[in-house]
Amino acid sequence: MSVVHRVKQAVFRRLRRLAGPLTHGRGAILCQHRVLPESEKSPISVPRDLELSTGHFASVLDMLSRQGCEFVPLDGLTDRLSQAGRRRLIAVTLDDGYRDNLTVALPLFERFGVPFTVYITPGLLDGTVDPWWYSLQTLLLGRQTAILPGSPPTSLPCDTPADREAAYRALYRQVVDAGAGRLAVLEAIWRANGLDAPPPAAPGLFLTWDELRDLAAHPLATIGAHTLTHPRLIWLDPAGIVAELRGSRERLEQEIGRPVRHVAYPHGSERDMPPGIAQLAREAGFETGTTTIPRCLSPSDRDRVWTLPRKALPGHGEDLDIADRMLRGWDDRFDPRLRRRLEATKTFC
Ligand SMILES: [Zn+2]
Repeated sequence: MSVVHRVKQAVFRRLRRLAGPLTHGRGAILCQHRVLPESEKSPISVPRDLELSTGHFASVLDMLSRQGCEFVPLDGLTDRLSQAGRRRLIAVTLDDGYRDNLTVALPLFERFGVPFTVYITPGLLDGTVDPWWYSLQTLLLGRQTAILPGSPPTSLPCDTPADREAAYRALYRQVVDAGAGRLAVLEAIWRANGLDAPPPAAPGLFLTWDELRDLAAHPLATIGAHTLTHPRLIWLDPAGIVAELRGSRERLEQEIGRPVRHVAYPHGSERDMPPGIAQLAREAGFETGTTTIPRCLSPSDRDRVWTLPRKALPGHGEDLDIADRMLRGWDDRFDPRLRRRLEATKTFC
């Protein structure tokens, strides 16, 4: 890195600190999925976006500590938003229920004294919901060609990492473009590739219920709900939405023997939010609901506790300076180049 570049970065860091009170509001809720050693991250970029390396995540937590941020649990967070205070509040959340949340992330949270919430989808722990974003990866890693269904079907080479990346994106696009017909398209993909069922994702990808109970008993941990089957809620009617939300709360409470007060909506972007979601989440018994709308927290979020914003650090191209900018709210307002880069690495949640 040249001296000029280093000086520029230092100047911009100083500017961001000065502009901080205007951009970062009261802090941020982090929305992550997995934490893994670099060597265990996915070889294909789309699942890799869900995976932060242990080293990068430790650097982010260390940076936030040094900046004087206060790590807070979700319980009580919204009451703090309207209270005066100069320290940025940071709440950490992890979606879906991956096993590495216990085995890899927890030791980091203990090291930095970070309370955290894990949002669980019971169907993923039960094995009744296919984590298709990982099953697609398994499909491609085990063969030389894969078939993209269609008229006619297309043969996709999978010999090299670049081939597999291109094949994954073609299959992934077909699934996502199917909208509510996603399950039928996935079945067609498995069938076209000679399979009766999804290829198993890596063993031990998700927590067992016993492991979840261990995690729930940890003083830093909060367990939240993430629906029963991880649907796009916008495709369901209000009764279906409440059934997914309430059903996951009740199942989790039964399994861990503690109240479950917080929910994260799967996918969770602005366009994925069904009308009236705040009322439906309230009806389903939750005290807060989090989206993936990428904003920092502001005092007015005290009045929007069922649609709180969250920021997701991308696992693709990890960069501490980008993490700093994102969590200071710099990306939303002043940096279209950074915003474009983040939009290019959307996560599933
Ligand atoms: Zn999710």
